[in-house]
Amino acid sequence: MNNTAKKVLVIGGGFSGMATAIALRQQNIAVDLVEIDPEWRVYGAGLSLGGATLRTFQALGILDEFLRHGFAGKDTQLCAPDGALLVTLPTPDLTGTAIPGNGAIMRPVLARIMERATRDIGGVDIRLGCTFTAIEQGADSVAVSFSDGLRRRYDLVVGADGLFSKVREAVFPHAPKPSYSGQAVWRAVLPRPDEITCTRIWTGLQTKVGVNPVSAEQMYLFVNEHRPRNEFVDPATFVAQLQDLLAPFPAPLVQWMRAQLGEHSSIIYRPLEGMLMPRPWYQGRVLLIGDAVHATTPHLGSGACIGIEDGLVLAEELAGAPLEQALERFMERRWERCRMVVENSMRLGEIEKCGGDKAEHARIMQTSFQALAEPI
Ligand SMILES: Cc1cc2nc3c(=O)[nH]c(=O)nc-3n(C[C@H](O)[C@H](O)[C@H](O)COP(=O)(O)OP(=O)(O)OC[C@H]3O[C@@H](n4cnc5c(N)ncnc54)[C@H](O)[C@@H]3O)c2cc1C
Repeated sequence: MNNTAKKVLVIGGGFSGMATAIALRQQNIAVDLVEIDPEWRVYGAGLSLGGATLRTFQALGILDEFLRHGFAGKDTQLCAPDGALLVTLPTPDLTGTAIPGNGAIMRPVLARIMERATRDIGGVDIRLGCTFTAIEQGADSVAVSFSDGLRRRYDLVVGADGLFSKVREAVFPHAPKPSYSGQAVWRAVLPRPDEITCTRIWTGLQTKVGVNPVSAEQMYLFVNEHRPRNEFVDPATFVAQLQDLLAPFPAPLVQWMRAQLGEHSSIIYRPLEGMLMPRPWYQGRVLLIGDAVHATTPHLGSGACIGIEDGLVLAEELAGAPLEQALERFMERRWERCRMVVENSMRLGEIEKCGGDKAEHARIMQTSFQALAEPI
């Protein structure tokens, strides 16, 4: 492991995997990327993004595209169920940059921007509808067999295949399994009224309602619900269940959104799961990144952020040092930040579930955003 990495395989073409491929090419490292979905699809929900995520877009060269197709703003407004503004959490300053404080975009739109960047940078050998079938580690390289019959050797394999990672299963059989948090989230896309120019959240007793603009015309609605058991929810009941969750919020805007929902609405329901694998996240020449190793609940809107940052930091470290040293440095730079996001998000969910201290909730959000604004 004393050689520097010249050829890397990325398994998984989500936000973390694409960011890794782009960042490695920026450092002139050869990259293969395999993605199991032949159509490279992403489901159609909105994605909230802090300033730290927009900083990663700048590093990847996609900030301008994001600004063209998404929505950039600042601050987060926390409101009572009747709409009274309780507090505005100011956006932390990303010192010395002109990067907006936060923003949001539809997932498929960001995925297409990143896919284009992954293709346009040149030199990423992308194979869709393809995955690994075996990973064999040797002293000088790691050999990977693929579902399309190919077998290739690499200096490093990066598992970026998400929450239910097969790379994790194969290489880290004793890793913790994802666990259900006791909350589920509902999401829907609605027209954006002019008054919604940043994230606005209404905190109820055990339910949290929020909106975030995703473009000039649209915003997305998210509703966190306390649901003790992770059971099947019949899609035929989605509209009625979401309307019931909004009913106890007298705020005029929440009631307007409730009235907008109907059979035509595309509603996404998702139980929230999380996992944080103890360090190190590498074994020999195989490293896990993104949700495969630190899947956070979305309370800080920072899951994509820390996965993309993983790719940037990995590429920086691999460019300058022998592999083993680079992986150690990667862990040093990533562990505390990712742990903070996963554990603080989990704590926010606990407070929401038991109708806990709203001041503590606001404080954790603010200190976490502040920590995320620090350089990576
Ligand atoms: C309800 C919900 C809301 C969220 N909201 C936000 C938010 O507002 N803001 C935010 O920043 N984050 C949010 N997150 C978190 C964010 O979605 C994730 O952190 C992020 O998508 C992780 O990206 P990833 O690339 O690591 O994993 P994934 O997005 O899961 O991508 C994994 C990729 O690997 C591919 N793959 C899977 N298995 C294989 C295999 N065996 N071989 C090859 N390819 C494979 C998949 O097809 C996929 O393309 C939210 C998460 C949830 C659950």
